[in-house]
Amino acid sequence: MYLENISLKNFRNYSVQTVSFHPDINILFGSNAQGKTNLLEAIYYLCTSRSFRTNNDQELIKKGSNFFFIKGSFRRNESNYLVETGYQYPQGVKIKLNSKEIKRSAFIHQIPVVIFCPEDILLLKEGPALRRRFLNLEGSRLNPLYYTNFKDYFRALQQRNRLLKEHRHGILDPALLEPWDQELVKLGAAIIRMRIAMLKDLEQQSFIFFNLLTGALESLSIMYQSSIDYQDHLEHLEDSFRLQLKKNLALDQKRGYTSVGPHLDDFSVAINGLDARKFASQGQQRTAVLALKMGELALFKQAGGAEPIVLLDDVFSEFDQRRQQHLFTYLSERDGQSFITTAVKIKHFETGPKKRFNIFTVCKGKIDAGSRLDY
Ligand code: ATP
Ligand code: MG
Repeated sequence: MYLENISLKNFRNYSVQTVSFHPDINILFGSNAQGKTNLLEAIYYLCTSRSFRTNNDQELIKKGSNFFFIKGSFRRNESNYLVETGYQYPQGVKIKLNSKEIKRSAFIHQIPVVIFCPEDILLLKEGPALRRRFLNLEGSRLNPLYYTNFKDYFRALQQRNRLLKEHRHGILDPALLEPWDQELVKLGAAIIRMRIAMLKDLEQQSFIFFNLLTGALESLSIMYQSSIDYQDHLEHLEDSFRLQLKKNLALDQKRGYTSVGPHLDDFSVAINGLDARKFASQGQQRTAVLALKMGELALFKQAGGAEPIVLLDDVFSEFDQRRQQHLFTYLSERDGQSFITTAVKIKHFETGPKKRFNIFTVCKGKIDAGSRLDY
């Protein structure tokens, strides 16, 4: 799947812009604050009907206007997909796929795309909430059953927490909690099993990419960390979960929330056996997160999807020459389309395979598909 062209109207710092892209690599080059990330954001929005920077669509409208519009044409084998998406304040968003209106919720999985931006390093640096969000997002994108289980689990959790809160200072009949505990155990265990399987696949795929980027000098491993102590015996998961819900009941009642379950789980990433969050250098952390994202690509493909579009925001400047070279080779050799923003010239683009990329100059909200000499 690749994006042939895009048209923007009043999106961020773009007034009116149409541009055609290369099916392989597109390099968006320009000084700071010119509109490079904004263009990646527009592409991501066109693919997912969401921004990767904000949940507030209003911010995407060019200042002084009250709407934005993005149109783009995607190609997969012999098929064309025309996507039109517009947001008008205060009416909201409208999406059309091949001229037919489509609901936002039905659109999420249509065009596979993976974004890597500088803030993604927080996935390793910050607390578990971001990693859980990653698990839930990837899980849902890869397996619709994950999404349904997660939604139902969350509903049961809210009901249980509501009961705990209501009886915070009184007596709580355990029979009241029983139906919710049953739901939590059944769905929670299913979610954990799916997460563990997904992380195992992700570890395998990310390991390959990590090896490639580090020249096989470093290794990467991922470990699921559950709040449920099942002593590494997955077959005891349900029993352990049930037992720990009961054991923690008095404490949970005092606090007004459920203190065990997949809603509190986490995963850790280790480089050469050491926890990357605590011991890895900035460059190693960045490489590890990029490896996770590239691992996702393989998982999407395994799930039967089209080759995702890859958006890389400012990643090259963060890596040393060797990692830059390996990354560029990887991108040149993969089948799918990539977009790379950069504010600095990157040597490997000039020495790499010349036919398979275009360079665009981004300046003050204008994109110029100028010659390579401009670069
Ligand atoms: P850098 O190299 O620093 O990352 P960039 O080229 O990626 O720069 P963008 O993040 O794309 O820069 O932003 C370009 C400009 O867009 C910024 O100066 C910002 O002020 C402007 N901008 C952001 N949102 C809007 C908006 N809604 N309306 C008008 N301009 C906006
Ligand atoms: Mg930027």
